[in-house]
Amino acid sequence: MNLLPKLQSRGIRLATVLTLLVATAVMSALLIQLIASYHSEEDSLIDTTLTLNYSNAHKIAGTIDSLFTSMRSSLKASADYVVGTDAFEAGDIQTELELIRVTSRYFNSLTWVDETGYVLNIAPASVGLKGKMVNSGLTNVALQLRRPYLSKPYIAPSGRLIVMLTEPLYNRAGEYRGILIGSIYLQESNILYEILGNSSVDETGSYFYVTGPEGQILYHPDHARIGDNTGANPVVRKLREGLNGKQQVTNTKGVPMLAAYVAVHQNRWGVVQQTPIDAVQDKLNANLRQQVLYMLAPFLILLLVVVFVARKLAHPFVSLADTVKQMSEGTYAPIAHTKPHWNREAELLTKTVIFAMEEMRKNNTQLIREASTDPLTGLLNRRTMTDMMEGWLEARLRFSVVILDIDYFKSVNDAFGHSTGDEVLKSLARVLGQSVRRSDVCCRYGGEEFVLLFPGLHPGEAFAQAERIRRKVERMATPIGRNVTISMGVASYPVHAETMEALIDAADRAMYLAKQNGRNKTIVASSAEKAESEDEPKSGE
Ligand code: GH3
Ligand code: MG
Ligand code: MG
Repeated sequence: MNLLPKLQSRGIRLATVLTLLVATAVMSALLIQLIASYHSEEDSLIDTTLTLNYSNAHKIAGTIDSLFTSMRSSLKASADYVVGTDAFEAGDIQTELELIRVTSRYFNSLTWVDETGYVLNIAPASVGLKGKMVNSGLTNVALQLRRPYLSKPYIAPSGRLIVMLTEPLYNRAGEYRGILIGSIYLQESNILYEILGNSSVDETGSYFYVTGPEGQILYHPDHARIGDNTGANPVVRKLREGLNGKQQVTNTKGVPMLAAYVAVHQNRWGVVQQTPIDAVQDKLNANLRQQVLYMLAPFLILLLVVVFVARKLAHPFVSLADTVKQMSEGTYAPIAHTKPHWNREAELLTKTVIFAMEEMRKNNTQLIREASTDPLTGLLNRRTMTDMMEGWLEARLRFSVVILDIDYFKSVNDAFGHSTGDEVLKSLARVLGQSVRRSDVCCRYGGEEFVLLFPGLHPGEAFAQAERIRRKVERMATPIGRNVTISMGVASYPVHAETMEALIDAADRAMYLAKQNGRNKTIVASSAEKAESEDEPKSGE
């Protein structure tokens, strides 16, 4: 019986299981949704960033293209202008060059190098190359070409990293007079910075840089990088092949980037616009946090609802368990369970369990009664009687035992048959049952012998009771049409004996004495019985 509470404390409560189950299911669903949306958002964000970068790179490439077209035509116009001046014929266009440089603002310096490579004029004069020979390297290439030329970035004789545009110059006589060089000083303030802006890196970490035909950096938010060769960068390699595109790439500092690249065909330059992937990740994480925050309140409300519903669902089973527990402890009150459960299965189960336990209880009572009573007379049987006596003896409770036996019962059987004999036994049992107090015990000892137990009665009181009963039996109606009589023997605890066997023996002996003394008598065991003497017994008739 103690097993139930133990089992109950060891198991998990149904409401907890239901809550956990639903919470886990909802949380998994939310998690799956979060992961899925995270990934799809990541893909779309990467795609959007690449597309934006591409469009920006395209715009910058367009700007550079227009810039170079303007620079070319400006240089061409300047060349056309100077060759028409007398100063040119005279071999000194310093003033003109200064004027052009200040008004057009395209070039950091303008230089007239004659056909031999001798610097005739340079504006500003501060560069200090005037009168020097620069007939080597790319200057020489330009001189030889005798047509418009755009150099790759290179270290000029002035020691600067420059890019130069050149225009051939012819005098009025049509003689080749060298070239007009427009130079851009890449590492100093120049037209590129003026046009593209000094914009360095935006808040997402996005920036762009411009590369030359061989991968040298011509423009970069980090000025220190200008002149660096990035030819090995996969994106720059694509640019050198004249390709446009967008892809993920790791920059020279090892930072993964989302890069878009567009080539400027006019000068074989390239523009790379890129964003660190971390920026995308940061945005994603911020979105994720936002989503989790949005989900939190509904989730908590849902959880509360689930806890409530789970408790409701579990309630019938909890009360069923209580019922079973109460039944097993014997404290079950059926009135407490008259209210039906809302759940059909729980209601059915409760009814079935209560019904089964009621049946069991009934069967149990039935079995106990069957085991403790005599089937013919319905009186208690011998075993129950001995159990009770044992209990009283253990408790040292004073009581008297009366053994009674029907007189000449064999003759009743012989004359009227066994079943009529049984009816007589039943009549006698009925009278006996009606003649004793509730606290007294009446049992069929065996055959046509009965035992009466009178708790608390002295021998004399028990004798009086026995006599009263004897006389009642004498007068009782019987199925055989004549009276039956009984002989009785009385013994008391602790007066006559202190053990059950000795008490029964003493009463039995007294009963036999009654038989011997003419039957239809009650005899009390002698007080000397205990001392095993043969005193004259007390008798009544
Ligand atoms: P006595 O006065 O000496 O007691 O004579 P008696 O004939 O009653 O003798 P005894 O008590 O020895 O006889 C018991 C008889 O009771 C024997 C049996 O035929 C009868 N008997 C015992 N049990 C039952 C029973 O359950 N039903 C019936 N009908 N008869 C029983
Ligand atoms: Mg007998
Ligand atoms: Mg008899």
